[in-house]
Formats: sequence, C-alpha cells, structure tokens
Amino acid sequence: MAREHDFDVIVVGGGGAGMSAAISAADAGGSVLLLEADDKLGGSTALSGGVYYAAGTSVQRAKGIEGDSADAMFEYYMTLNQYRVEAALARTLCDHAAEGLEWLIGMGVEFRPEDLYSSGVESIERGHAAHGNGAAIAAALDREVSRRPIDVALKTRVQWLLTDTGTGRVTGVHAGGQNVHAGAVVLTTGGFGANPHFLHKYYPEAAAMGDWAWYIGNRHCVGDGIVLGQQAGADVVGHNRGLLLTTPNFRKELEVFVPGWLVYVNREGRRFVKETAEYAVMSGVVKAQTGGSCFAIFDDAAKRTAKPIPKYADAFASGALPLNWVADELEAQVKTGKVVKADSLDDLAVTCGIRPQSLGATVERYNADADAGADTMFFKDPAEMKPIRTGPFYAVEIRPAIVCLTSTGVRIDRTAQVLDERDRPVRGLFAGGETTGGVLGERYIGGGNSIANAIVFGRIAGHSAAAEARRNA
Ligand SMILES: Cc1cc2nc3c(=O)[nH]c(=O)nc-3n(C[C@H](O)[C@H](O)[C@H](O)COP(=O)(O)OP(=O)(O)OC[C@H]3O[C@@H](n4cnc5c(N)ncnc54)[C@H](O)[C@@H]3O)c2cc1C
Repeated sequence: MAREHDFDVIVVGGGGAGMSAAISAADAGGSVLLLEADDKLGGSTALSGGVYYAAGTSVQRAKGIEGDSADAMFEYYMTLNQYRVEAALARTLCDHAAEGLEWLIGMGVEFRPEDLYSSGVESIERGHAAHGNGAAIAAALDREVSRRPIDVALKTRVQWLLTDTGTGRVTGVHAGGQNVHAGAVVLTTGGFGANPHFLHKYYPEAAAMGDWAWYIGNRHCVGDGIVLGQQAGADVVGHNRGLLLTTPNFRKELEVFVPGWLVYVNREGRRFVKETAEYAVMSGVVKAQTGGSCFAIFDDAAKRTAKPIPKYADAFASGALPLNWVADELEAQVKTGKVVKADSLDDLAVTCGIRPQSLGATVERYNADADAGADTMFFKDPAEMKPIRTGPFYAVEIRPAIVCLTSTGVRIDRTAQVLDERDRPVRGLFAGGETTGGVLGERYIGGGNSIANAIVFGRIAGHSAAAEARRNA
C-alpha cells in the first residue's frame, strides 16, 4: 500500500456513501482502496432505520401509486426548504433518487410496497423502508464491495490528504503511518455528531442544548471530511444544519413520535403544533418557540393510565417500546425534577415560567375539544385526546436535542466535485453523503432524505473520481 499511484481511487469512510462510491468507481474500471476508521463497514448507515426517500419508483408503482416524479419531489424539497439549499444539488438528488433505490433493490435490499409510507409532510408516499432497516442496506453494499476487486482496510483512519505542492491537486492520503497515492480521492466520512467541538463550531443550535444533547450515530463520525477537505482548500457550507429530535431528557431514548395525549404548550401558554406532527417538522417548530423549547402538559388521570404504546416504538431501528411516557417513569421523574408537579394549573404555570392566564384558556379549549371529539386547533386524532382536569397537574420540558445527523460540510457540485470558496474545483477531490453541505437543508424533507443523499452522491462521487483518475493516468 506504500507505492505511489497504487490506486485509481481512494475512498475515505465506508458507510453508505463510501461503499456506494467504491462500487461505482470499481464498476467504472478503476482500482479502488476503501479506508474505514471503524472495525467494520457500515457507519451510521448500518445503525439507521433504512428509510430511503424517492419518487417514481417501482415500489410506488407496485402499490398502485402512479405519476409521482422527480419534478414533484423537487418542488416539494425546495418549498419545504424555502429554497435555502443548493438547488442544483437538490435537483440531482431528486433526479437520481429512484435510480439509486432500484440499484439497492438489484443488490437484494427489500423495500416492500406495504412498508411504503408518507415519511414527511407530502401527500404521496415516498418513504421507502428497507426490510431489516439500515443494517440490510449496509450488508448488501458490503456484499457488493467484497464481490469486486476493492481493497478494504478497516481500523484505518485517514489523517491527512496528500496534495501536489505545485498544482494543489489531491494526490492521495496519509493513513496507518503511510502515504498512499491515487488518481482521485473521495471523502465519505459521514457527519460530525460525535465531535462536541464541531457541534459548537458548525451546529451551535445542537450545542446550545448542553448536556441534553446526545448523538445517536457512529462514534467515528467526528467531521474528518471537513478537516481533510479544508486542508485541500474546500469550502464548507450549510452552517447550523442537521436533524435534531425532541426529548424530555429522562434517559437516552430515541423518541420519533410522542403519544397523542400529551399537550404541548409554549411559554406564552399556547398550543402551537399538532403534538403528533412528523418529526421532520417538529424540531424546527419547537425550536422556533420562545426559549427554544416547550412543555408537555397532562393531568393525573393521564399519568396514572399511561402505558407503552407499540405504535410509538422506536421507528428507526430497535423496535423497542418507548418508556418515557409510562406511569412509573413519570412518577420517578417527578423526584428528579424533570417532571414538574403542581396542585393547580396556575401553580404549574408559575413554576415553569408559562403565562398562567393563557394556559388556563388553552386547557379550557382543549378540554372542550376532547369532550366534543374534535381538535379544533390542530386536528389531532380525537381518539388520542385526554382532557386535563384531574389534579395534580404535570409539565415536562421538551427540547430538540437528539443529534441524528449533521448537514454542514464540504461544498460539492452536481458531479460531487469538491469546490473551493471561489467555486473552483479542488482537483482530485470528490465527496458525498453526510460529509457534504448544501444538499440537506434546515427542514428534513422526510424520513429517507439522508440515506438517499448518501447513496445518490456516493455513486456519483465514485463515478466522477474514476473518470478523473483516468484523465490523470
Ligand atoms: C439511529 C439512526 C437512524 C437513522 N435513520 C435514518 C433513516 O431511516 N433514513 C435516512 O435517510 N437517514 C437516517 N439516518 C441518518 C443516516 O443514516 C445518515 O445520515 C447516513 O447514513 C450517512 O451516510 P454516510 O455514508 O454519509 O455516513 P456513514 O454511514 O456514517 O459513514 C461514514 C463512515 O466514515 C468513517 N470515517 C469517518 N472518518 C473517517 C476517517 N478519517 N477515515 C476513515 N473512515 C472514516 C466512519 O467510521 C463511518 O463508517 C439515521 C441515523 C441514525 C444514527
């Protein structure tokens, strides 16, 4: 591995994007080295729920959904993100998402029509859930890597990039105490959720959550792609972006949805969202409230009868029953102070810093709605509503603090070519997946946004890198 120009393409990081890049580069005829810091391939992709967002797929058609298209997905993507993403990159993602999904299906990943669902706020179902979650996607990619002449080095963290001092071209990497040269390098190191320093620097909204913030992804995702890219002159874009999920901070439990009997109010004492709204929008809405958080309110009758609801099981991966909102846990959390208990709603409001008059009015209206069987404010399923009437009363602060992924990263163009601040290519350097910025915006468009990004841009990066290596040969 120490000779010069040993490989056409070196891929740094072997998650979803990296394995896709390595396979594409090999299929384009390049010799490939895939370097992975962990002791196995897979990264956060292998830990994920394996939901893949795409429009115009064979799975949709098998379910009788005709006529969805990349155009429709693009309009939705840009509208939800208020055009605050790189439009050309979003368009590329929308154009190639279906193709990427079919590619995974061709490798044996099963996306069953019955598991297709509306994973964002779209009216058409585009959330393709892989049978066996992200582990199944990672295993299929791993299998394809092993079927090709791709050299894989595990437990090998790339430390810096080699560049030509005259031209600035990236010519290889330094890893495992050696310099390895290549015609092109692809950065696919994932995000930086495991790096508290980088959360402060690039995702201050997450860092501001202090000790509430915890990261659920691969521990090697510390932002190396940003560091390596910047060494070679890459621009970094997408400041303060990523996906946070809300939490009451009782324990490290991943909570994708909360039970519908919770009533969320802000410090003004008002409801502001349907409590069962999609996680894709929930964090942004909570973050926008005064103080950046809200309170879940309920009464003693609701607390006493609170049970684990399978419907709210961790939809990402484990399938474990959620334990935050069950009677014993809530009682235990009264002792820690995380659940605030008071004999009257006024006292509860004063203790939590909520405007008491408005809270009283909000609860009055909510109770009338619950009695009448219709949520006249946010149209939540009335079957889930419970009035707030029987003291004592309870409030739990909710913050968007679980770091699922980060979206700040190196700037790329549609070919996955890394760009500098003047939009000039950093020659020899490509990137894809969570290590890039500009594709994912402030709004997660729905479950599957990030894996689609990893697969689509991973494949493009591998292909482009192989072509670049041929030009340099
Ligand atoms: C629990 C969970 C559930 C999720 N569910 C979904 C979902 O259902 N749908 C969805 O779209 N998204 C989901 N996400 C997000 C999504 O999984 C990731 O954003 C995406 O898989 C990232 O893919 P990637 O290839 O860019 O990075 P990763 O898959 O994280 O791969 C990066 C790899 O690079 C390696 N690496 C890092 N630095 C170096 C270095 N210097 N040298 C060598 N190797 C290095 C890491 O070890 C890692 O293996 C979820 C995330 C989590 C954690």
